[in-house]
Amino acid sequence: MSAHCPLELVCFVVRAQTHSLGYSSSLSSAVEKVLVNTRHRWYMWHIMAKVAEKVPKSLLGNSEFKKDLNSCIWSELIEPTEFEDKWKTVMETYELEGDEWFVSMFESRKFWVSAYFRDFPNSSLIKTNSVSESQNSFFKRYTQSRANLVVFLMNFNNVVDAQRNHSAKLDYMDSNTTAKMKTEWSLEKHASTIFTDGAFKEIQEQILEAYNHCSLVSISNDSSPEVYKVLDHFSNTWTVTFSVADSVCQCGCKMFSRTGRVCCHIFLVLKNKKMRLIPENLIGGRWLKSPLVKAVHAVQCQDVATHVYVDEKEKAQAILLGEMLGIYQAVSVDIDQIHELTSIVREARQQIFADGVVTSTARRRN
Ligand SMILES: [Zn+2]
Repeated sequence: MSAHCPLELVCFVVRAQTHSLGYSSSLSSAVEKVLVNTRHRWYMWHIMAKVAEKVPKSLLGNSEFKKDLNSCIWSELIEPTEFEDKWKTVMETYELEGDEWFVSMFESRKFWVSAYFRDFPNSSLIKTNSVSESQNSFFKRYTQSRANLVVFLMNFNNVVDAQRNHSAKLDYMDSNTTAKMKTEWSLEKHASTIFTDGAFKEIQEQILEAYNHCSLVSISNDSSPEVYKVLDHFSNTWTVTFSVADSVCQCGCKMFSRTGRVCCHIFLVLKNKKMRLIPENLIGGRWLKSPLVKAVHAVQCQDVATHVYVDEKEKAQAILLGEMLGIYQAVSVDIDQIHELTSIVREARQQIFADGVVTSTARRRN
């Protein structure tokens, strides 16, 4: 397993369980204990593969049934109660209410239906087994079927090196690529400077969506939080709240908490508020340029913006580490800048330390 071991372990365990679509409570509680702050989710691909076996023959090839079923189980935009209503309608329409398999799948709905994961941060990664399968194919390129444990470990190290090398290349490209702006919004320019190239392209799509297709239906700004109703391309109206005191902005579509990327509805409200920069609470750590550096150097990467810190010191440490690695990444492509930063750091070090002991703020000012 790679540096992202816990996620892969979840994939492995969940896949092992969903092969039989059985649910082992002892295995599940063991995983919960080891992998805290994670949620057990079944692979949709395996479940959907079973549908064709389980439905009556009369429904095979019924495109309307497929469309109706997909729209209720795949949607991340509906709440669990809406899912339950939609599911009931589908079961009634296609006379599946008494079907044993569909009844049991409904009882286990919290483990696989998208509506139950709509505000859970997974960066939209673990929805199907595609992540696991792509990892499998990646590792297969470096392994041999009859390798002993020593050879396996050597190959494994090569895999990790290759991944880090690839990540370093992407970092380099991020530092040297100037993204093309598609609007005159300063929010777009700001996004291009803080997010990785890949993440920025997806965020730019949301900005364009807000620019071209979203409109404000109503504004209630008499008290804080202000409440905005935003109509989008799909004729959905979402409620966006904006707290004036701290610029905390939240949208009912929950895309930010789910993926770490700001949705078009929030971008429209920020534009309406004439904000030039994306507020700090909407800058999820996962897609920033600097966390890639942390991953390359195997430093534990915490999402400073969304992670709940029990200890203030721990939070301050994470912020400091992010700042330092961010600066390192910004200058690391230019040898002159590296020398310049090194001398600045040495100078700062002399100022901060005196006789091996950190000076107090007052003493440092003196
Ligand atoms: Zn939204």
